[in-house]
Amino acid sequence: MNYHLTINGQSVPGASTFDVINPADKSVLAAAPKASVEQLNNAVAAAKAAFPAWSALSYEQRREKLMALADAIEAAGGELMQSLTQEQGKPMKGFADMGSGFEFGGTLAWMRATASYDLPPEVIQDNDTARIELHRKPLGVVGSITPWNYPLLITVWHVIPALLTGNTVVVKPSEMTPLTVLRFGEIAKDILPPGVLNVVAGDGEIGAAISSHPDISKIVFTGSTPTGKAIMHSAADNLKRLTLELGGNDAGIVLADADIEAIAPKIFATAFINNGQTCAALKRLYVHKSVHDQLCAALTGIAKAMKTGNGMDESSDFGPLQNEKQFNIVKELAKDAKARGAHFLCGGEVTDDSGYFYPVTLVNNISDGARLVDEEQFGPILPIIKFNDVEDAIARANASNNGLGGSVWSRDIAAAQQVASRLECGSAWVNHHAMIQPDAPFGGVKDSGFGVEFGEAGLKEFTSIQTVHIYPG
Ligand code: NAD
Repeated sequence: MNYHLTINGQSVPGASTFDVINPADKSVLAAAPKASVEQLNNAVAAAKAAFPAWSALSYEQRREKLMALADAIEAAGGELMQSLTQEQGKPMKGFADMGSGFEFGGTLAWMRATASYDLPPEVIQDNDTARIELHRKPLGVVGSITPWNYPLLITVWHVIPALLTGNTVVVKPSEMTPLTVLRFGEIAKDILPPGVLNVVAGDGEIGAAISSHPDISKIVFTGSTPTGKAIMHSAADNLKRLTLELGGNDAGIVLADADIEAIAPKIFATAFINNGQTCAALKRLYVHKSVHDQLCAALTGIAKAMKTGNGMDESSDFGPLQNEKQFNIVKELAKDAKARGAHFLCGGEVTDDSGYFYPVTLVNNISDGARLVDEEQFGPILPIIKFNDVEDAIARANASNNGLGGSVWSRDIAAAQQVASRLECGSAWVNHHAMIQPDAPFGGVKDSGFGVEFGEAGLKEFTSIQTVHIYPG
């Protein structure tokens, strides 16, 4: 299949191409079009030219277009899900149906839910003295830079609220997984006015050109903390607004009274969702000593039934890691854990290197200070740390520079909520983890970034406030 950039409502070839690798067999899946900086400039110019007419439409008019886009994306579902599996690695179905179908279903759900919102003016005062209204204005051209773990879902998280509020967009998917988003752009160009949504592909060089571009008013970025910091530096020159959704190293704390058999499947699912390549996956599990052995046994029982293999194979629960760099990070963290005497309950050995396959791995007899605990693994390997005192567990959970999510697991909801309220993170869950929905704001604190996505709060991030003061004439 041929892939194109989308610039000003046209499908255009890249200035050059780059190979996209299928992580399940390391073969070249496609030659993706690579945008030059000149093409990026064209895309930004097109978005800028499209802004006045697009922002002048009502929410209802823009909503109609975005709902039509959701319908067109739904109609292309088979092709898009296969493309996700081939470039990202996740199974079509997978463990608990959380593969490409899950990402695709989430994409449609988020598109339609987000497009249904409104941001009407608020009246702050209305009396004989004055009427004061608060209006939300679009910012202009928004640059969206996305990672490789959920290529399509994260694109719509960025693009739909930006467009609904009246902005125009230039999106750059990860160079690891550009294909599904390139197709998204090709479908969108037949529905949205030219220049409203442009898709350019390329690596960090194009990303950097986006984040420093003088005609872009805001960057919405999902990716690693170091890249987020680089973007913040280069966005400073024209005071770009930023939403930065960065890395996480979420802790889960299991209290002594937790119902282990009930929570083990949920802990497993939320630690290994998308093969661990999920920003807000449960990445460090702190377990009270009285239930530690029982929970380790329950999780190991689930893990041992899992099959890791090519995502196109219906029987695979998990696919490969998305890329070689991430595969090597996971192997390095496991090596460090082994060298420190950690105990591997399952997994830990690569048995098939025809693709970037790393088995589902559980590690205990490990503690803070090991790289696997202190760093974000972003892969299918979970450290389980025993604790005696909940105060100590809270302190260790909060010792991380990251602050995306955290969870507390207990039969005593009030006690769990009390502990959860003390976690330094943007989302806190009781008896679950990594649960998100289109109407509940999601974002990080500390090195996990700032700003939120989803719901009305997320929509407002794509606007500036204009306060209108009206006095009698
Ligand atoms: P990454 O930071 O390497 O790349 C993300 C994107 O940034 C890519 O499109 C890349 O081309 C671009 N980029 C690279 N250098 C750039 C630069 N100097 N300027 C502008 N753009 C640049 O991240 P990744 O490896 O693709 O993704 C994995 C990371 O993303 C993990 O740390 C994960 O936790 C995080 N993540 C966070 C969330 C969240 O919502 N908080 C969601 C998914 C992933």
